[in-house]
Amino acid sequence: MEARRALIRKAVNACCGRQGFNFVDGRRCEPTDSTGQIKVTEPATGLPLCSFGSSGERDVADAVASAKAAFAQWSQMACTERGRILINAGSKIRENLEFLAHLEVKDNGKPIWEARVDILSCADAFEYFGGVVPSVAGQHIPVGGDSFAIVSREPLGVVAGIGAWNFPMQTCTWKVAPALACGNTFVYKPSPLTPMTALALADILIEVGVPKGSYNVIQGDGETGSLLCHHPDVAKVSFTGSVLTGSKVMAAAAAGIKKVTLELGGKSPLIIFDDADMKNAVKAALMANFLTQGEVCSNGTRVFVQKGIYKDFMKNLIEATKKLKIGDPFEEDTTVGATISKEHAEKVLRYVESAKSEGAVVECGGERCVLPPPLDGGYYLSPCVLTSCTDDMKVVKEEVFGSILSVLTFSEEDEVIDRANATHFGLAGGVFTKDIQRAFRVVKRVQAGTLWINTYNLYPPSLPFGGYKQSGLGRENGTAVLEQYTQTKTVYVEGGDVDCGPLYQE
Ligand code: NDP
Repeated sequence: MEARRALIRKAVNACCGRQGFNFVDGRRCEPTDSTGQIKVTEPATGLPLCSFGSSGERDVADAVASAKAAFAQWSQMACTERGRILINAGSKIRENLEFLAHLEVKDNGKPIWEARVDILSCADAFEYFGGVVPSVAGQHIPVGGDSFAIVSREPLGVVAGIGAWNFPMQTCTWKVAPALACGNTFVYKPSPLTPMTALALADILIEVGVPKGSYNVIQGDGETGSLLCHHPDVAKVSFTGSVLTGSKVMAAAAAGIKKVTLELGGKSPLIIFDDADMKNAVKAALMANFLTQGEVCSNGTRVFVQKGIYKDFMKNLIEATKKLKIGDPFEEDTTVGATISKEHAEKVLRYVESAKSEGAVVECGGERCVLPPPLDGGYYLSPCVLTSCTDDMKVVKEEVFGSILSVLTFSEEDEVIDRANATHFGLAGGVFTKDIQRAFRVVKRVQAGTLWINTYNLYPPSLPFGGYKQSGLGRENGTAVLEQYTQTKTVYVEGGDVDCGPLYQE
């Protein structure tokens, strides 16, 4: 076991040390038009991980040209053939699970058990979309007499993807798997904080037979992302990130009338009624706040607890939170890994200070824990539970994207729904109750793209995911996403003579 682990670590280190962090036209390459050097640090240790040039205008143009050239072949392939290739990509991801999970931890700092779940969900997504795509069919519509129309579903062309750093491979896969399944080709720009697994995916896709050029990776910063959004041969941009950047992406796409999908931030409510199953509600509150160091867009960071169970719930929640193990993310029993960067950790800690200054009580956590070398350069934050919170506090209103759980109390169902909806976000939400009618009343009225009843933060690729309000536009996953990566073409077929009224005289 130890020997196998050592081999995997060696492969991961070799991968981070390889040259060529872009992947264009089927091969790794350096940018030729770099606008500056990006230095990446390993969150677990704070030590240098890798370094590469930020791709410039010519690099973006080359990647888009490569995807455009590949489109002719990939889009013409029978969808059963494309589907088979993508299902094989899913199998390859499963075969390489340990390598990919370790690479993800190196890049992101999340605990290894979580990284395994993320990577397996990438395999699920390739298998799901590979399996679904052969059934994507058009329509035949009679329009009178012998005439009819055919409505076919066609790919868009070159799709650009831009991703965040919290679920690096999953964010990429949720875009690439359905886009490729529908016959599009792809250029992906990962977050400069987490460049590795999108690149590893390129190797896998080539290995299973995705034609070169169909999936390209260009590394870079926001400027690279902006160049990609503005490129005239990009038909659609699929973006995951903050609301602020999302609105810039939307504006860039608007200039070229490009299609756009936006997966943005959240400040989701988790509503726990008096009759909830206590143990499950506590487990869900942990899942809704402390996975991936709290860096999860759909997190239920506003935990509304009905007054009757407040005391009991708090006792259980605090006990469970204190049991979380902060440690080396590569250790199997670690449940809290490293925050993505020093800057982000400082931002999260500033939210703890602001909460205190506004009157919230820190029940546990909210501090940096310095671990022994070589982890002493990493930013490990203890999961924080806040009470005495009010709806108008900064920490309750803004997306923190770190492990801070704010507890709010409520009395009535109508009251909690109004308070849950009093936000410009609308990504997700959860309700815990044994009363099924109440559960359905609540989920019907909460304004969000995904609601969970008696669980939290589960997203199999067969379910659409996306936001209401400022949390986004469009949907990822499920069959809903197939419409986002295709366009319809209507063909009217005349079955008789052309009828043009008095326009034509014999
Ligand atoms: P950012 O919005 O800061 O960045 C996202 C990506 O966009 C990065 O690759 C970034 O590069 C790039 N970018 C920056 N400026 C531009 C631009 N003008 N044009 C095009 N691309 C640009 O988000 P974070 O990476 O900090 O991720 C955290 C955010 O992502 C949170 O708000 C979170 O809620 C959201 N998120 C949403 C998810 C969802 O599915 N709804 C899932 C995961 C995260 P650079 O880093 O160099 O600026």
